[in-house]
Amino acid sequence: MTTTTVRPLHEIALLSQAERFKGRPKLCSDCGICGGELRPKMAQSCVFVNNKHEELELKLHGRNRRDGDELLFGISRAIHVIRMRPVNYEAQWSGVITTMGALLLEQGLVEGVICTHAAPGTRWAPLPVLARTPEEVRASAGNKPCISPNLEILDQVRASGLKRIAFIGTGCQVHALRALEDELGLERLYVIGLPCTDNTSYPDLLRFLKIASKSPDTVVHQEFMQDFRVWFRHENGTIEKVNFVDLDVSGLGGERAMFPAACMSCFDYQNGLTDLTVGYLGAPLPPEERWQWMFVRTERGEELFELLRPHLELGTYSEGGNRRPGIKAYIGMLRRPKVRPAAPIRKFVAWMQRTKGPKGLEFARSVIEQKLLRNLVFVRDLHGRLEGRIVPGYVYRALEYTAEVYEQEFERPLKR
Ligand SMILES: Cc1cc2nc3c(=O)[nH]c(=O)nc-3n(C[C@H](O)[C@H](O)[C@H](O)COP(=O)(O)OP(=O)(O)OC[C@H]3O[C@@H](n4cnc5c(N)ncnc54)[C@H](O)[C@@H]3O)c2cc1C
Ligand code: SF4
Ligand code: SF4
Repeated sequence: MTTTTVRPLHEIALLSQAERFKGRPKLCSDCGICGGELRPKMAQSCVFVNNKHEELELKLHGRNRRDGDELLFGISRAIHVIRMRPVNYEAQWSGVITTMGALLLEQGLVEGVICTHAAPGTRWAPLPVLARTPEEVRASAGNKPCISPNLEILDQVRASGLKRIAFIGTGCQVHALRALEDELGLERLYVIGLPCTDNTSYPDLLRFLKIASKSPDTVVHQEFMQDFRVWFRHENGTIEKVNFVDLDVSGLGGERAMFPAACMSCFDYQNGLTDLTVGYLGAPLPPEERWQWMFVRTERGEELFELLRPHLELGTYSEGGNRRPGIKAYIGMLRRPKVRPAAPIRKFVAWMQRTKGPKGLEFARSVIEQKLLRNLVFVRDLHGRLEGRIVPGYVYRALEYTAEVYEQEFERPLKR
């Protein structure tokens, strides 16, 4: 039987940002800690009160990130390009995450898996659950691309006395979970991560779909693809592709109105404190082939990879282009108000991005650096007093090559 959170559905999923964050600190992604019994632990676990990423990383790996890709992707023992054999076409990509959770239960390695279903009557509103059977984990397939209080389910884990669990979630959730791990009384914890950026509340997701898609009500799957387009799959199987540059962000009130302040202050796109993270950002195209990329971060992550290995097909990386000139130009754009260019210019930009833009791993580096820069500027503009506590040191190291341009544009050093 699936046990769901005791908080009423409309509270966990359907509320606007304003209602959802009432009474919370200024920066909150509703990770689930403050909705339940663990609320008194907020100060010691919240990534937006005190970002302990580097301290927790040291505990997990015995070291911090080295210069190079680790500054963007996090520490890992291995990185693989993979897909399920056969691909699960009902999943977000190929079904790696749900298969892993289901296998852990099938083989008796865990007693429960914390994952995210869709709230009844909705396609996208996230409902965290404690899955006790492989079928219940499989039923969590597909993104519900909204903030979700998954850690609230720890109350149910404690109440039911489970000692071996797996957790599937995003970086802000994993930070809090790692910070509290030693106090949870668990014998075994597998931390399986999704990369995450620009998450939003459910009402704002619906607003986005209305503006971005020609038929918002029939969208059954959406992803921001590596070809600089959002792909919407509709109920009848057709795919609608919208260039990033054509999205009317100002029609949504701009990024700062669309995304919660917490997601604009988030610096862990690749979910660096997991045992294993599975995304798509650096995986090769075309998307129809459903290749994913996986970071095996810890010994427990290696165990997960071996568990899954017989069901996987391994692929190879690709990379191309040079992100650095574009990233330096992006810094200038961050200062200026966002105005959507005229249609012919957008068409040209979209063509340039697809044909000349960074590809494969270089595309992933480019996207992550853009988010680090944008979010650093956001924190400095609106939450400057918090910078010392919420921006981890690796951010400044990762962006060091842009320091001169940053200083020219913002008339202050990149470093704190
Ligand atoms: C909000 C969000 C943003 C993401 N952004 C990126 C990104 O920018 N770049 C990137 O490379 N990858 C991103 N991902 C991950 C990616 O889209 C796929 O989910 C991942 O590659 C796994 O695919 P799969 O087929 O193995 O997953 P599936 O087997 O389909 O399983 C999906 C899993 O996601 C979990 N899930 C669904 N919604 C949520 C939610 N709201 N919060 C927490 N967990 C949830 C479910 O529990 C389920 O187990 C994001 C995922 C989410 C949920
Ligand atoms: S992000 Fe989590 S820990 Fe932080 S304030 Fe929000 S619910 Fe609490
Ligand atoms: S963008 Fe960051 S803060 Fe927002 S839900 Fe994702 S991991 Fe959490």
